[in-house]
This record gives sequence, C-alpha cells and structure tokens, in this order.
Amino acid sequence: MERRRLCIQDYTVGWVCALPIELAAATKTLDEEHQALPQDENDPNVYTLGCIGEHNVVLACLPAGQTGTSPAAAVAIRMKAKLTSIRFGLLVGIGGGVPSSDANIWLGDVVVSQPHMRHGGVVQHDFGKMGLSGFTQTGPPNTLPPLLLNALSKMRSNHYIGRNDLSKHLSAITRVPHFARVMAGPDLLFESDYNHIEGPTCDQCSREKLVKRIARDSQDIVVHYGTIASGNQVVKDGVTRDRLSSELGGVLCFEMEAAGLMNSFPCVVIRGICDYADSHKHKRWQPYAAATAAACAKELLSVIPLTEAAKTRTVDEAIDHRG
Ligand SMILES: [Zn+2]
Repeated sequence: MERRRLCIQDYTVGWVCALPIELAAATKTLDEEHQALPQDENDPNVYTLGCIGEHNVVLACLPAGQTGTSPAAAVAIRMKAKLTSIRFGLLVGIGGGVPSSDANIWLGDVVVSQPHMRHGGVVQHDFGKMGLSGFTQTGPPNTLPPLLLNALSKMRSNHYIGRNDLSKHLSAITRVPHFARVMAGPDLLFESDYNHIEGPTCDQCSREKLVKRIARDSQDIVVHYGTIASGNQVVKDGVTRDRLSSELGGVLCFEMEAAGLMNSFPCVVIRGICDYADSHKHKRWQPYAAATAAACAKELLSVIPLTEAAKTRTVDEAIDHRG
C-alpha cells in the first residue's frame, strides 16, 4: 500500500531516540507510517514519519555508535531546524534505575521526568559544583510547554483510576519476539556494595547478596515520576549510583542524552529501566525496557488533544519566550 505523504508543517511531535532498538520500539507505536522526506544534503538525520492517534510524529535516532549529550543535542537541533512546527519533544529509551526506599523500581518499569523546584526533571550529574551542601546543578532549568505538564498530570490521574492502555500499547511492540519480556531473563537486584563476578551473566554472583524484595504479582507497567540524572559518564557501580543520587536530592534513573537537550529542545524524558546502573548491568533487558518506554510515550500522546497542541508554541518559540 502506498504510504501517505504529508507536508513538513504537519509534524508537531519530535521523538528522539539514542539506540536503534529504541527507534525500532518507537516505530512499532506508530498507527500509520508516512512516506519519508527527501534526504536533505544539509541534514544527515534520517527521519521516520508517521502518526499516533491525531498526532503526526517524527522519529530520529542518534548516529550508530554515538551516545551522550552532544550527539543528542545535534540530532534535536537539526530536527527542529527542519521540522519547524514541532511543539513537543519526547526523548524515549532505556535507562539505569535507582531503586531506593522511596522508589520501588524494577526492571521494565518506566521513569518519566517530572519537573519540580529548581530543575525541569533532568539534572546533569557530571556538570556542576560540589559544595558543602552537596551538588549544585549549574545548567539552566528545562521549560516544558504547560500543555505537556498538564498531559503528564492527566496520564498520572488516569492511571490512578485504572484507565490505562499501557499493556495494549506494549503488546503491539512485544508481538515482535525480540522485544518479549521472556527474552530478558531474571530481574536481579544485588546489594549496592556487592560487585559482579566475572562473566556475561550473573550466574556466578551470590544469591545471598540479592536485595530481598516482595515480588510483584502483576507484569503491568509501573510508571515512576521524578528526577532523571543525565551525563556523559556511564554509571555502573552501585555505591556510586546511590551516592550520586543522594547528592542530587534523589533521582530515579541515570541516562546519557537528556542533558544535551535541556537548552535547545524542551522535552519529556521517558526511560524504560533496563539495569540498575551497577556492575551487574548487561544488555538483555534493553529491548523490553525500550518497549515499555515507547508504550508510555504513546500513552502520554493519547491524552494530548490535537487542537490544543496546535495552539502551543513551537519549541523555538518556547525557548525564546523563556528568555
Ligand atoms: Zn552479577
């Protein structure tokens, strides 16, 4: 079947991913895929176009093998320069979770950046000043369009009363066997100061050192809202993870791109938890975690009315307005 071709101005949602597996999950959330744009010689981004409900969405992924804040910023800046009608940014993919007494985070859960107080839901952990009172983030706060903040409230409220299409959105992705939960293996959280024993799996690691948790009786996606820590350094040590989180006032996950987008591309960051940012981290949960994050992004878009989205400032107007 011939794909529809829309005009560049019709696309209002910009969705950025870092990894091909995240782009694959994002592509599976599209209700319809549109014809690709002609490649622009000044813009090396490769876009995937389509719609989710009423919203026309443009997806872009970081170049193969690149991660971190600078490549993410470059992709987002090129995207908004070419697709000038974009109203919302979404940064969607995987992250390393920070389980704590405040946040009962398991693999496959989703963390959504929730602005509060001094920052916009994202804090850069490797760019700031350490003072006597802990870490001071020196970057500017992120500013999300009010409509997106209201949509976060609406989604959260819906979930409280059981209005939840996450499983439906997820199953459309996990129908592809690579994304299935059964491919991910066991969910093992070790004590933060217990380091991984050599090998590709945790088969050699002591089960005596597992954190005792009450297993959940459902596989429904659990969404956590709060602060996401971002930086170019990979966090893969339990003690460092907990120390950084405490210095930053408590974070829910670590990832590597959001800080690059804070200044130029106001966006909600949605991260599926694929490991615990400790020495036991491996990649087997990445596809399923990418799928849960993409399902959550689709759920968020579903509570935003198109008519309201059209009235919202574009990302550049929002940045100018912020001053
Ligand atoms: Zn291990």
